Amino acid sequence: MGNCNSCSSKGKCSDNSECAGLVPKYGKIKHIIGVISGKGGVGKSTVTGILAVQLKKLGYKVGVLDGDITGPSMPRFFGINDKRSEIKQVGESENVKFTPVETSKGIKVMSLNLLTEEEEAPVIWRGPVITGVLKQMYSDTEWGELDYLLIDMPPGTGDIALTIMQEVPLEGMIIVSTPQEMVSMIVKKVVIMAQKMKIGLIGVVENMSYVTCGKCGEKVRVFSKKSAEEQAGYLGLPLLAEMPIDLDLVENMENGNVEDYISKCENYEAFLDNFKSKVGI
Ligand code: ADP
Repeated sequence: MGNCNSCSSKGKCSDNSECAGLVPKYGKIKHIIGVISGKGGVGKSTVTGILAVQLKKLGYKVGVLDGDITGPSMPRFFGINDKRSEIKQVGESENVKFTPVETSKGIKVMSLNLLTEEEEAPVIWRGPVITGVLKQMYSDTEWGELDYLLIDMPPGTGDIALTIMQEVPLEGMIIVSTPQEMVSMIVKKVVIMAQKMKIGLIGVVENMSYVTCGKCGEKVRVFSKKSAEEQAGYLGLPLLAEMPIDLDLVENMENGNVEDYISKCENYEAFLDNFKSKVGI
């Protein structure tokens, strides 16, 4: 299997017969961006969701592929768990076609957690099976025309992340970290992996950087005395954003209002501005 990232047609070809990498069967995607972290729980899915909402707000056609097969959280983020019946699967095995679920703002979401009968049903599969399912979710979903497909990658440097980096024509990846030395050390492994795989890194989002005091408005860095710039410097990446611990975000996720909340919240504007300047939009 070829590596799309060393192919001269990377991200531009639409002909399965010419391409050793993966091409979506039912759609055309202009830009594919991966969001990855070394560890689970640092906010990779949250950052994916925030960026998806912001790009949609700018008028782009956006899709999200939940590549974290064993810990899928995009349906919860967008509050679309109750839309599980809207996902359509036509055909079987080689000839399957999935119709993704659309969020209230029209972001197309594909997640294994929309295909299982119950939300809590675990995936107890070995690596090759998971990898095969993920590839199908990417290539057999009816994405239609998309400007951006964001892939919420599994945490770490394992089998699935490796497959995505090797076979999906990623334009670049965003690294998500938190201001903790232990997390940074593990996130750095992903940075080095991406560099070895020749994947462009757009920058790092430091999540859960601070809390804002409700009385005086001071930003308190609860996890580290080092600045976000210092943490980004250790990773050798540009800093895209410092995101606060934001309980309103969590509340709005729980109420199914997250897209409206993010569209209006100034906490996330710097992230979008920096992303735009790094990818040239
Ligand atoms: P990952 O994808 O890295 O496993 P998630 O994005 O699923 O992490 O986030 C893990 C948990 O932390 C979720 O419950 C999410 O709502 C919460 N969370 C993430 N980022 C923030 C934040 N900035 N403020 C408050 N809660 C957050």
